[in-house]
Order: sequence, then structure tokens, then C-alpha cells
Amino acid sequence: VVPFWRDHNLFLAGGPAANAARRPLAIAGETAAAAVRAAAEVVMLGVDSDDTAWFAADLTDWEANALAALGEGAELAELRRMSPLLATAEAALLAYARGMLQWHRRHRFCGVCGGPTTSRHGGHLRVCDGAACGADHFPRTDPAVIMLVTRPGGDGGACLLGRQARWPAGMFSTLAGFVEPGESLEEAVAREVGEETGVRVDRIRYRGSQPWPFPSSLMLGFRAEAAADAEIALDDEELEDARWFTRGDLARFGERGLRLPRADSIARALIEEWIAAYESEGVAAKALSSGKTRDE
Ligand SMILES: [Zn+2]
Repeated sequence: VVPFWRDHNLFLAGGPAANAARRPLAIAGETAAAAVRAAAEVVMLGVDSDDTAWFAADLTDWEANALAALGEGAELAELRRMSPLLATAEAALLAYARGMLQWHRRHRFCGVCGGPTTSRHGGHLRVCDGAACGADHFPRTDPAVIMLVTRPGGDGGACLLGRQARWPAGMFSTLAGFVEPGESLEEAVAREVGEETGVRVDRIRYRGSQPWPFPSSLMLGFRAEAAADAEIALDDEELEDARWFTRGDLARFGERGLRLPRADSIARALIEEWIAAYESEGVAAKALSSGKTRDE
């Protein structure tokens, strides 16, 4: 059983350093049975290859000292802060557990009739208790698009990054936004880029996805292209700043007091993919140009 407490988990450190690898604390046996009995909600997460059944238990109503007794030396921390220090499979397990338990907290009452709901099917369904209603409610995932916009030009072109006022100082990242009802993913990409920066894009291509259960998003990553002379016209309600950056600019980000999103984010993956593609194209072009340098 993986305990959850006010959006926090318990973690065990592999060493004393602040950046030491962490493992999520999981409890078993009688301790786990007691936690399940006392939990506000329990979700069955699944059965792994060695036949161990995994559950998430929401212990938010517990006193902090009762929680601390579950694991000696375990640290209570938020998953978003800890996930870079976890093995991928364990970070994914906790993200799944957190997304499910947050969904339960937000769906205790029926969205149709307002009556209370009850968890069913190991926590994968909530059913309205109202005899006249009985509506089923399933965990939801909200699609959001995240996109790296590029334009052709000198130094291999440039990419469009923006920043929101609430982000850490100096951080720039890809644009992103939620998909609206009745909209395709590609339409959402073009609309969000247009609304936030006034830039028109085409050649929109899917690149990959990242679950973001904070509380219930799935980030769908895209590349999109703008014209060489595309100018930015900021909508200052969304973004504090947005600029075109060449690869050379990105290489000097640190010197200029700027920073990219964290290494395990899809935003960073989209940016790194763009940088790497040019490097490999550059090598190929060099090989074809019979000894001429790119500047010639
Ligand atoms: Zn209902």
C-alpha cells in the first residue's frame, strides 16, 4: 500500500545527500491492512509481475505523527518535487495513485444531481447513491497540448519560448494550453499559439506525450512551424514574455540568467529534440559539402 497524505507521499532516501535517489515508502502486512481500514479512499492500482497487488490509500485525515509511524526515517514530500529522484516506474506508480485519489476527492458528489457518490470497482468508478439518478462517474483525463514552434532563418532558425509571471525567475518554456470541446489537437495547437503570441503556425506534428496528473492532465507534445518573418504580438494576460531563441541563444542561456524547464519534462524533450536534429543535419550537410564549412 502506498500511503497518500494531503498530496504528499513518504519517501526513503538512498543516502544523506539532498539529491540522493529516493524510493517511495510502501507498507505491507498488518500495517497495510490497518491503513486500508482507516483510509478515506482506497484505490487498487494493479498486480505486478511477481503477483504483488498494489493499492493507494488516502490518509489525509490522519495526524502527521500517525503517518510518521508508518516508516522510520521516511520523509513526507510532494511528488512533483521528488519525481526527478525516483526510478521512472516508481514515479509513474505514484503519479497514477495521486491522480486517482485526487479524482476521488473531487467527485464525492454527483455532478448530475448533487447527491453523494460511492467508490466501486476497486476505486475505478464512482456511482451516485441517488435512487432516481445512479449516474456512473469515471476518472477523467484532460488533454492539453504543448508545442515547440520554430521558424527558419540564420543559425539554423529559432524557436519560440515564453514565460508566465508565476514561473521561477528567468525560466522560459514551450507554449501550452488545454484542448477545448469540439476541437482537434492540431486546432488547439494553432489556436493557443495564436492567442498567446499572435504567431500563425502550420505543419503541426505530434511528437509524444507525458501524463501530468496535477490534477488530471495528459500533455500531448507537438512541433509546429511559423514563417521566417513571424513576429510576436503578446497577449499579456497569458504570458509575461515570449521571444525567438536560436540554438546559439539556448547554449548561452545560463550566462544570461535564463533557464529551460526541468530535464524530465516533455517541454524540455521537445527543445532538446530540436537542438539535436540540427546537430545531426549539420553533420550530414558537412559530409555532403565536400569539405566546405557551413559558413561558406
Ligand atoms: Zn446523481
